Amino acid sequence: MEVRPKRLNEMWLFEEQTHNMKLGLRMTQVLRNIKSQYQDLLVVETPEYGKAMVLDGAIQVTERDEFCYHEMMSHLALCSHPNPEKVLIVGGGDGGTLREVLRHDAVKEAYLVDIDEEVIRAARDFFPTLSCAMDDPRARVLPMDALKFIEDNKETFDVVIVDSTDPVEFAAGLFEAPFYANVHRSLREDGFIVCQTESPFSDPHVVTGAYEALKQVFKVVKLAVGFMPTYPTGFWTYGIGTKGLDPAEVRRPAPEGTRYYSHDIHRAAFVLPPFLKAMLG
Ligand code: SAM
Repeated sequence: MEVRPKRLNEMWLFEEQTHNMKLGLRMTQVLRNIKSQYQDLLVVETPEYGKAMVLDGAIQVTERDEFCYHEMMSHLALCSHPNPEKVLIVGGGDGGTLREVLRHDAVKEAYLVDIDEEVIRAARDFFPTLSCAMDDPRARVLPMDALKFIEDNKETFDVVIVDSTDPVEFAAGLFEAPFYANVHRSLREDGFIVCQTESPFSDPHVVTGAYEALKQVFKVVKLAVGFMPTYPTGFWTYGIGTKGLDPAEVRRPAPEGTRYYSHDIHRAAFVLPPFLKAMLG
């Protein structure tokens, strides 16, 4: 059956979130539409969620809800690690995670390693509220493959945040045990890894696959959950591994003015519904 748009000149952005489900956002303007060396990159204006960046058809950030995701990606680890001084962000070329990481005064240095320079450029051109921390003197922005970076890395980090695209093509290795082992080697004794691990409704195999792979490498592995409206199903998971510390424990203050994260949210995020516990075995 064909469903006709109400107005002929309406433009819609559709993300195919599973083979049988799409999210649609009405858009009013296309601001950038290019093929980078690695992926199709689209920046559009939408009335509902503000500007949105889309890579290979998948929404990465929207101005309206990005805080839900970036605050969880950053503060779950940075408020649990006793003294996070040096942080590595894998992917995250939009700058949102970097912005949140650098809200912590304890952080002395933060690396952002994204394979695609065009994502970084688009963030600087269209998303100043996300990319604002890229010029912070504590930030080091490196356009390169993070798999290669971590393989060759001789530095040590307190926290590694894997803010990647879905596990396909050049991002697939970022969800696998050999990569986690290289991260483990690069982490100090109190070190944390945090990974975006998708939705248990649209991509249950990614949630369980990443969780199992983390468990092969890290002594303590926990899953946290949160809301993220424009990601598939809006129900998101974060996989966290440490060398012994309990990531559900809060050890440090949150930055002032967070809009999603709080210490109560931190503790609650690790309380999993029974269906998800069962899924993790
Ligand atoms: N959390 C967002 C999501 O799930 O939609 C991801 C946001 S961020 C824009 C994802 C970034 O990961 C992209 O800019 C992409 O270029 C980067 N990326 C994917 N694979 C990578 C790799 N192997 N090394 C470095 N960056 C990578």
